[in-house]
Amino acid sequence: MEEHFFQCPYCWEEISMLIDYSVPNQTYVEDCEVCCNPILITATISDGQLESFSSESIEQ
Ligand SMILES: [Zn+2]
Repeated sequence: MEEHFFQCPYCWEEISMLIDYSVPNQTYVEDCEVCCNPILITATISDGQLESFSSESIEQ
């Protein structure tokens, strides 16, 4: 597990989360620890490195 820092798409505060580098493709929803809005997280792991990461707001 590696800690990854990113900006919340709602409040723009920098938050962090733990990413499991043993799972190649990950998509899940995480609540922002500052504003509590749901963030759609998409991460791709390649050769033990974080290849891509995106944090998007979930449209109502
Ligand atoms: Zn937030």
